[in-house]
Amino acid sequence: MKSKKWYDYMWIWAIIYFSLSFFNILFAWLGMIDFLIPVIVAVTGGGKWFCNNMCGRGQLFRVLGKNCKLSRNKPAPKWLSSKGFRYGFMIFFFIMFGNMVYQTYLVAAGAKSLRQVVKLFWTFKVPFHWAYTSGSAPEWVAQYSFGLYSLMVTSTLIGLIVMLLYKPRTWCSFCPMGTLTQGICKIKEK
Ligand code: SF4
Repeated sequence: MKSKKWYDYMWIWAIIYFSLSFFNILFAWLGMIDFLIPVIVAVTGGGKWFCNNMCGRGQLFRVLGKNCKLSRNKPAPKWLSSKGFRYGFMIFFFIMFGNMVYQTYLVAAGAKSLRQVVKLFWTFKVPFHWAYTSGSAPEWVAQYSFGLYSLMVTSTLIGLIVMLLYKPRTWCSFCPMGTLTQGICKIKEK
């Protein structure tokens, strides 16, 4: 049996991340690790090493779906992993990311006030006042935290839904970061 490495337990980090940010939204910034490391690894020639070894979210879906047997383990519809859907979803995801950065800019510029809400599925606003103490950080820092946490929670919820319905790691077949790093690897191979 393959001996376990420390990074085989990154799923625990994923749980810690969501828990810490639930009580103090400023911890949501740590989610940037999930955005930056896969890109840095792919750009520097490490290919999909992050996805295959270190992604806490991917591991969490496996632990819940496979080890805890929460997944129906059925094949996902083919369109979910089609090129059109994967790239379309990635573009949508990064447009939403860009909008989040823009909202942060508006708060930083004083054109908008901080909104202490977590937006689920880019639609449903959940009040989240307990997670930020006024004055504990600049408001734009908090705004970015709320936005990033919204994105992280939403993508994880989608991942959990498809984990329950299909195979444990179905999310990975259309995860924007997975699509992006795969695209980087293809460009580098040329
Ligand atoms: S595809 Fe996304 S969720 Fe899956 S391992 Fe890669 S970065 Fe993590």
